[in-house]
Order: sequence, then structure tokens, then C-alpha cells
Amino acid sequence: MKIAITEFMDLAAVDTLRARFSVVYDPQLVDRRADLFGLLDDVPALIVRNRTQVDAELLAAAPRLRVVGRLGVGLDNIDVAACKARGIKVIPATGANTRAVAEYVISTVMLLLRGAYLSSAAVAAGKWPRTQLSEGRETAGRTLGLVGFGSIGQLTAKLAMALGMRVLAYDPLLAADAPAWGESGVARRELDALLAEADAVSLHVPLTAQTRGLMDAARIGRMRAEAVLINTARGGIVDETALAEALRSGRLAGAALDVYAQEPLPEGSPLAAAPNLILTPHIGGLTRESNTRVSTMIAAGVADFLQAA
Ligand code: NAD
Repeated sequence: MKIAITEFMDLAAVDTLRARFSVVYDPQLVDRRADLFGLLDDVPALIVRNRTQVDAELLAAAPRLRVVGRLGVGLDNIDVAACKARGIKVIPATGANTRAVAEYVISTVMLLLRGAYLSSAAVAAGKWPRTQLSEGRETAGRTLGLVGFGSIGQLTAKLAMALGMRVLAYDPLLAADAPAWGESGVARRELDALLAEADAVSLHVPLTAQTRGLMDAARIGRMRAEAVLINTARGGIVDETALAEALRSGRLAGAALDVYAQEPLPEGSPLAAAPNLILTPHIGGLTRESNTRVSTMIAAGVADFLQAA
């Protein structure tokens, strides 16, 4: 039985699959769609990250497909409804990169609230911006607002509380009596109330019709003056032009973005010239450790599925 892997995967996990199945592992296949389609004819299992579009066109080229392993958790690159209609199982790496993202959020919140770490070039050039940088804020006692309180939101809350932060969350899909609220000590809020109270806002919702454009100009305008915004969720949730303007005007003290409406960032993006902005290339969930966990989980899930089929 054949398994096609179209994006990078931990090699030890690929080897466990090779020991039992015929594996085509080519991390560049994602960028060669015609080649990918050419080999899908007799493939029952496909393993992807977030860049391979598992859409109607791909599914039509893969008549024997039975299972899709996703090396991550967001499923917006997979037509889940079409897979379900065809009886194709989709296996996400639920929980396996949670810690990597939560640590990214905590480190960027600390960095942006303190506001002092973007001075390397100035200090190296002999400048001494001590007065401007002596107003940084401590994390303890500040309020973190989480938009989406699933696995990443919940671990982020735990880490933030260990630092002495107060944590609020907005998640209308999580019932008010769900154990996650009581057990964590996180206060439930409506979105606008959360934005008005939080010193740092971090997004942890999937990209859906309801969350697309959620942080538009009006909502960014409702954030506290000098608050910071972190988006590791998905591009398209934050209005990038409005965010750039809020940073330029100093209304927001900083932001960290790991995901964008278009990846890589297109030329002329308003984000390019915005101050106090940390930009990373969609690596929030990627660490050595998480890559091993995610790959091992998906290799085992896909292998078990094929074995049972
Ligand atoms: P999860 O499914 O455990 O949690 C998502 C939460 O969002 C759920 O509790 C759900 O109720 C809530 N939600 C859904 N729609 C909502 C809405 N309209 N308003 C408010 N809340 C809503 O997922 P997770 O593991 O916490 O991951 C969250 C997202 O983070 C993923 O969907 C993915 O897009 C993104 N992610 C990014 C990276 C990265 O590398 N940057 C890595 C992992 C995950």
C-alpha cells in the first residue's frame, strides 16, 4: 500500500512507515502539483502539512484515497466535507504542537510588553535609548485575553497564570459549564469585553466563515491603548492593514504575527513598514520536539488506519 508525503516530516517517523508500506516522501511535492496528481492514482494514504491544498481537484486525482494525515491541527487546507462525503478519514495531530504555540505566545507577550528587545541595531550603532526603553511593562499582574479556548488557548492560560497574569477567554462554542473554565480559573468574557480589558490579546480560533475578519478595524479599535496582539491562529482573522495602522499610530504597543492572509507575505504588504512588529514564517507550532511528536502521531495514526482497513 502506498503513502504519499508531500511536505517535510520527521525522518524517523517516515522510516517507521517505510518499514511497513511503500512510501513516496518528497517534501517538495507540495510545490509540484502536477507531479503530485500524477502519482495519486493508486494512493490510499496522503500525509500533508498546511500548504498542500486537499481540494476537489486533488480528490478527483486520487480515486483510491482513504485517509489524509495532517501534520498539524488547522484543517483549512483540507476540504473536510468533501473528504467526509467520500468516506476519507482525516487525521489531525491534535495536541502535538500545542506546547510549541503556547510557548511562542508567552515569549512574544513578554517581549512586546517589555518593549525593549528591538533595540539591538540602535545599541550596536552606539546609541543609548535608555530613557525611551525604561517604560517597559512586567508581565505579572497584566491581563491576557484569549480568543478561542481550545487546547492551545488552555495551555497558554496555564503558562500565563504561572507568570502571574490574569487570564480571560472568549469561546462561545465552549459551554459556560464546561470543566475547562472551572478547572483553569480563566474568566469567560464576550469578545468586546475581553478586548476592552486585555493588555495582550492572543488568537486561538480556527479559520472559519465566523472567524474570518474577526479582528477587523473596529475590533482592533476596541483593544486597550498600548495593548499587544498575537496571531498564531490563521491569516485572514486579522485585518493586516488596520493592524499596521494601529501600530504606526502607537495605539497598539506591538504585535507578533506568525500567519498571514497570504503566505509568504506579498510585496507591498502594509505590515512591512509597521513598527514594533514581530513577523515569523508560520513556525508557531514548529519546534524540534513538536515535529517529532506531530510526525510520530500521524505516522502511527495513518499506519493503524491502513492496517485496519
Ligand atoms: P482547538 O480546536 O483545540 O481549539 C479551537 C477553539 O476555538 C475551540 O475551543 C473552539 O470552540 C473555538 N472556536 C471555534 N470557533 C470560534 C469562534 N467563532 N469564536 C471563538 N472561538 C471559537 O484548536 P487548537 O489546537 O487550540 O488550535 C487553534 C488554531 O491554531 C488551529 O485551528 C490552527 O489554525 C492554529 N494553529 C497554528 C499553528 C501555527 O503553527 N501557527 C499551530 C497549531 C495551530
